[in-house]
Amino acid sequence: MDEKQLCSMVKDLSALYAEGNIRVETKVLIEDHLKECGECREFYETQQAECSRSNLRYQAIAKKIKRRRVWMVGIVVALVVLFFVIYSFVFQMIRIDGSCMSPTLEDGGWYVLNKWQYKVARPEHEDVIVYERGGVYYTARVISDGEDGLAEEEYLVSVDNGAGVIDEEKCVNRWEIIGKVILQ
Ligand SMILES: [Zn+2]
Repeated sequence: MDEKQLCSMVKDLSALYAEGNIRVETKVLIEDHLKECGECREFYETQQAECSRSNLRYQAIAKKIKRRRVWMVGIVVALVVLFFVIYSFVFQMIRIDGSCMSPTLEDGGWYVLNKWQYKVARPEHEDVIVYERGGVYYTARVISDGEDGLAEEEYLVSVDNGAGVIDEEKCVNRWEIIGKVILQ
């Protein structure tokens, strides 16, 4: 093998040599050659520098992907929390069971309950509300007009059909009221 052949062999094997995936005899041969041959040494060093540069680049990309993944998980968690907060404190879908307030509320119909409304404002005359008493949820219309002689946080409500036909009247406390039914 002449010098030129040896050089091209060393260049071919330099990557394997760097990784250590090479037989000991070949390793010694390459080491000896690198000591003597400036051209091959330069080739080897350039190759190593390039390799570590691309390693750094790869690490930077991996870091970026990881950071992005953390962000994605964070966003998903935030959305889930937001959904539960909205569902618990702001809006909730309710299904009407019974026709006692038909046609204002249709039996089996789905409506949106605004739970936030009465945390920031008082129930008003004509509001259709949901209140809870003894673990049961009821719908009713607020008919208090401020002159019915009730205590501060008490409201007179009625179950009616929206056309003035009143089936019953009750007095509910503000803390029993869950929210206001949004009517289209
Ligand atoms: Zn050489």
